[in-house]
Amino acid sequence: AAKAAGRNRYSLYNPQMSEILHERLQLEHGMRSGLYAGQFSLHYQPVQTLADRQIVSVEALLRWQHPQLGNVSPVRFIPLAEHSGFIVELGEWVLQQALKQLARWRTQGVILRVAVNISTVQLRHPDFLRQLQQALTQHGVAGNQLELELTESVLAEQVEQSRHLLQQIRALGVTLALDDFGTGYSSLAYLKSFPLDKLKIDRSFVRDLLTDPDDRAIVHSVVVLGHSLGMRVVAEGVEDAGQLHQLQQMDVDEVQGYLLSKPLPPEELENWLRRVHSLGLPHLQ
Ligand code: C2E
Ligand code: MG
Ligand code: MG
Ligand code: MG
Repeated sequence: AAKAAGRNRYSLYNPQMSEILHERLQLEHGMRSGLYAGQFSLHYQPVQTLADRQIVSVEALLRWQHPQLGNVSPVRFIPLAEHSGFIVELGEWVLQQALKQLARWRTQGVILRVAVNISTVQLRHPDFLRQLQQALTQHGVAGNQLELELTESVLAEQVEQSRHLLQQIRALGVTLALDDFGTGYSSLAYLKSFPLDKLKIDRSFVRDLLTDPDDRAIVHSVVVLGHSLGMRVVAEGVEDAGQLHQLQQMDVDEVQGYLLSKPLPPEELENWLRRVHSLGLPHLQ
């Protein structure tokens, strides 16, 4: 009923609606100035391999500290940045930051790979490959130290072009992961022909793993599918030991989640790694 009446009721003049629009515009415009004003930063979340319990990589996750609105979630601002096209610039900044951090860690003897999320809008920009190559060279980082996390939308359109681009990226030694697997519209037929190294199972399937047999069946199937296509399988959003145990039973290769650690600013991650190390868990080379 609300929907039927909605068209007119929720017009631009509805004060609640205009507040939402106002905030959206505030965010869209604020992003650009915020980037120059240093309001953005990257946090890093460790990923652990289950076979040997090593921390071999961290995922870079964007944070925005807005002067009025406080911490704004990437779930809110990334879609706006994709819509306005600003994601190209923002994503380039993320890549630069992450590679700079990676190079800094190397000089400190911390050997980690860094995973960077890449929006499909950013990936499809004609300069993407060149910028990636340039950034690797500039920071003296080998391609095999970098992972790119893509979303399923990359498999949905311009398939031939995407496949070719991903092949070129992979030729640099870069690892390619398909993020949030299971939430998009990717065709299994395309999955097989794309040069992907990893599947990241979306955390929505991990959350109720212990209580929902359907989720268990889905996760199990994704592991079998991934492995039979020669990919490693990662589970996101692992929050408790029960889930970890279950995922281990299912032969998942890597886990990431609050159980291990939240995403942390670089210095906190370094402290975390030191702490884990002193507890006798092997993680560094
Ligand atoms: P994602 O790439 O799937 O990243 C994982 C998200 O799950 C992160 O949310 C992380 O903080 C959260 N997470 C990790 N472990 C747990 C857990 O145990 N429980 C729960 N409840 N959540 C967990 P975050 O940082 O809010 O990022 C959300 C999404 O925003 C990301 O999902 C990614 O799609 C996008 N994003 C973040 N940074 C970037 C970026 O630099 N570029 C692009 N294009 N997208 C980004
Ligand atoms: Mg990701
Ligand atoms: Mg994900
Ligand atoms: Mg996710």
